Amino acid sequence: MHPEALDPAALRPRLPSPLVAVEDERFSRHGVRLLLKRDDLIHPDLPGNKWRKLAPNLRAAAGRPLLTFGGAYSNHLRATAAAGRLLGVTTIGVVRGDELADRPLNPSLARCAADGMRLVFVDRGTYRAKDDPAVLTDIVATATRDAPSGAGPAGVRVIPEGGSNALAARGCAELGRELRGAADVVVVACGTGGTLAGLAAGLGPGQRTLGIPVLKGGFLGAEVERLQHEAFGGRRGEWSLDDRFHCGGYARTPPELLAFATDFESRHGLPVERLYVAKALLALTTLTTEGAFPRGTTLTAIITGTPQ
Ligand SMILES: *Cc1c(COP(=O)(O)O)cnc(C)c1O
Repeated sequence: MHPEALDPAALRPRLPSPLVAVEDERFSRHGVRLLLKRDDLIHPDLPGNKWRKLAPNLRAAAGRPLLTFGGAYSNHLRATAAAGRLLGVTTIGVVRGDELADRPLNPSLARCAADGMRLVFVDRGTYRAKDDPAVLTDIVATATRDAPSGAGPAGVRVIPEGGSNALAARGCAELGRELRGAADVVVVACGTGGTLAGLAAGLGPGQRTLGIPVLKGGFLGAEVERLQHEAFGGRRGEWSLDDRFHCGGYARTPPELLAFATDFESRHGLPVERLYVAKALLALTTLTTEGAFPRGTTLTAIITGTPQ
């Protein structure tokens, strides 16, 4: 491990991230101001909420190997692998789908492997049951069986799927604090809900957060509450979810969404990540067009990441 670099601050994140106003007639026509919170610019290898969620976990791990979970295209796995390379920390990625073990790695997993992440593929049933302590113990034991010394089950720090735990939510509260006094409504795309849990807790009085789930299922509200309880001792901030904009589910990108994203990029010169950010921006634009926000409202969209 690099002895000097264990503190993630050594990676020189760009914090607070820039907050920029954009001119867009779809908003100005309704008397609404649109700001973009450029969390995508925090760090080239650990963009957006991935930095905010990982940094406190890296500090808590204090150089111990990290083991975490993700799907075949997980931004969280890539960010964890990059952090491991940059800080000299061993990383183990548990990937959903044992059928992937016998295939060439996709570009996302190839990037993880190139960054030194040890990839362990587990079948979908086991993956789904990973929050069961006995199943988790088994996964960790298998994943560390012939790992280098120091990466045995006892010494490994486990970070849940998507990186969302209490430390991550507290890291994301800083995002809310950076926006105090700057916006009335803050919109963020949600996967596991850790970013929303922290963001809502960090905002000031009178500010509210609207979460846009990119997965179908309606389970997210309970998950955000659970994370807020764990991180802050109870529900915090004013937040709600709008389930209308998942566009069919995770990683579903229908042509209308892609056209919207391409158009937004050409209007504002900003690379629009398609799986999360595009859905949040589409939600914000649609809601504004529907007249959901009174004139004089300042909206802020969190740009949580960059296209791969
Ligand atoms: C991971 C990710 C999210 C989702 O964050 P959660 O804390 O899991 O809700 C949103 N946007 C981008 C770009 C991401 O990579």
